[in-house]
Amino acid sequence: MKEQIKILVKLQHLDTETVRIKSTLNDVSKKLENLDSSLKEIEQTIKDQESVLGELTKQYRDYESEVKINLVKNQNSQEKLRLVKTNKEYQSLLKEIEAVKSKNSSIEDKMIECLDRMDETEEIIAKKQDEYLQFSDRIKSEKENIEHEAGINKKKLDEHDMDRKNISGLIDPQLLKKYLIIKEQHQGGLAVVPVKDAVCYGCNVNLPPQLYNELFRCDSLKFCPNCHRIIYLKE
Ligand SMILES: [Zn+2]
Repeated sequence: MKEQIKILVKLQHLDTETVRIKSTLNDVSKKLENLDSSLKEIEQTIKDQESVLGELTKQYRDYESEVKINLVKNQNSQEKLRLVKTNKEYQSLLKEIEAVKSKNSSIEDKMIECLDRMDETEEIIAKKQDEYLQFSDRIKSEKENIEHEAGINKKKLDEHDMDRKNISGLIDPQLLKKYLIIKEQHQGGLAVVPVKDAVCYGCNVNLPPQLYNELFRCDSLKFCPNCHRIIYLKE
């Protein structure tokens, strides 16, 4: 019985490892997706800022041409000024010229503001482009690591599968069946647990003294009366 339990514990270790490796492998694709989506986020920010810059540039050109039109308008007014005959006409034309001048001056203020914003946006774009390059380098090596590790894990999984087949053949079929049922009852968790100082390691409950004493004999299969797992004496 002692030998059988030993093999069963080995099998259980393989099963536990298999579950762990499988869940690690499941995480791999999630990890890779996360890395890609972080990179895409930076890419999107760059695109957004580039479109902001495009709009600002267009706005700036619109202001520029408005200023030019106004300048031409005022040149024409200046010429007309020489031709006017009455003071009233003269005054009204002057007023018009002043109005256009002040309009241009406020447009020029807006142009300066626009240039400031263009500078800021260009700075953000340059910073993000830098970030993108650094991040994509980092992602590349991180991806390689993740994939390398996944490769090792896949190999380990294959080895575990083989070992499991070999070990299973050494266990009494009835015992193996019991092991699988108990494992199922504990949601794939431990089915064989050690006992130390009369305490079950599966549920941390004290065993009755008689059962604990019987464990020392190692002559038959014993179960924890509380969690119903297979128990063995921890050496
Ligand atoms: Zn127990």
